[in-house]
Amino acid sequence: KPALSKIGEQMSHLTGVRAIMKDINETLRAGAGQKFINLSAGNPLILPEVEQLWRDCTASLLASSEYGEVVCRYGSSQGYAPLVEAIANDFNKRYGLNLTERNILLTPGSQSLYFYAANVFGGYTSSGDLKEIILPLSPDYTGYGGVTLCAEALIAYKPTLDIDFSAHKFKYRPDFSQLEITENTGCVIFSRPCNPTGNVLTDDEVKKIAALAAPFNAPVLIDSAYAPPFPALNFTEMTPVFGDNILHCMSLSKAGLPGERIGIAIGDEEWINVLECFQTNMCIHPSRYGQAIAARAINSGKLAEISEQVIRSFYQNKFTVLEENLFAAMPKDLPWFLHRGEGAIFAWLWLDELPITDWELYQELKQVGVIVVPGSSFFPGLREDWLHKHQCLRISLTGSDEEIAIAMQRLAHVAQQVYQRA
Ligand code: PLP
Repeated sequence: KPALSKIGEQMSHLTGVRAIMKDINETLRAGAGQKFINLSAGNPLILPEVEQLWRDCTASLLASSEYGEVVCRYGSSQGYAPLVEAIANDFNKRYGLNLTERNILLTPGSQSLYFYAANVFGGYTSSGDLKEIILPLSPDYTGYGGVTLCAEALIAYKPTLDIDFSAHKFKYRPDFSQLEITENTGCVIFSRPCNPTGNVLTDDEVKKIAALAAPFNAPVLIDSAYAPPFPALNFTEMTPVFGDNILHCMSLSKAGLPGERIGIAIGDEEWINVLECFQTNMCIHPSRYGQAIAARAINSGKLAEISEQVIRSFYQNKFTVLEENLFAAMPKDLPWFLHRGEGAIFAWLWLDELPITDWELYQELKQVGVIVVPGSSFFPGLREDWLHKHQCLRISLTGSDEEIAIAMQRLAHVAQQVYQRA
């Protein structure tokens, strides 16, 4: 065993979903003969129109004189200039902003952006103060659990629950009576729409969080991996919120380019500059090929168009299929609640008073050929014991309609047995 540093020790553990993926992959491999319905994926499906878009952009790049510039040269740490410019133009036009290229940073995927920010703004200052990374509404994206080199800096807050008992639906809201944003706050991060819950914080909630952080000059990172204008995986009206202390963060992973690793940060010039320096030290710059085709897709308007017309409706329909099948199959007298499906590519199910843990339920579902993700992986930074943490499941909308229907029937059957046994 190699002797590891403290950071080495910490970073060699997989967190959240990545840890469970190992179990899932082993299950799939071991049960090669058995047919599993795998609703655990965070990976979007390959939609033909989306693939065609990227194929066309690639063909255009290959046919242009730009090709050599893109693949045969190092580039700037900020990202490939034509993509920076495409984003500035698009956002200025679309949202009436005054962005210059100094307001934009491109990173190898948005995960790396959160890593930079968590360690630039969170952790110990040179005078020894601990700057906290605040997750204002737990559950949230499992990847935030692995981004800080200073584990004690990550602090998540329990939400309040809006429950519609007769409809078997609920929605999380930030609990402003508990949320503490103070001079110890280094930065704030949340996803909107949210992975895993599909929640979309309202404009007012977002503005309130930003206003709480403003007096301390703490950046609020709004993880817009599922937001409009691309991939536009919002099923409810939402407008991106911009502001002096907001870092608007995006990803092209859910718009068909997960493997090309493209993350985008938009915000205050000085913050962008600090993040860019971190990036230079870490990896010099993100890969340029994906950025060059992304610039074409944004400039032509096609990326936003396909996002709205293809990607959004595809997953919105999947959510409806899941919801209808779940409601048809689940016993009405049990205390289960589906989170309102406001966006992203997941459904989030809460089984109140569940007599076993979410991990045990996950194991029982595997026995009937259904793989989902136990919800407890999605509470990074939450220190308190909270039964709710062990009562939820994340179900991906990445199956076929038929698979989703069968999976909901099996899930309902297992849930009924589990409650009855108690
Ligand atoms: N943020 C959220 C909410 C996500 O769901 C994901 C990926 O699933 C990421 C960030 C990371 O995406 P990437 O690093 O591919 O941009």
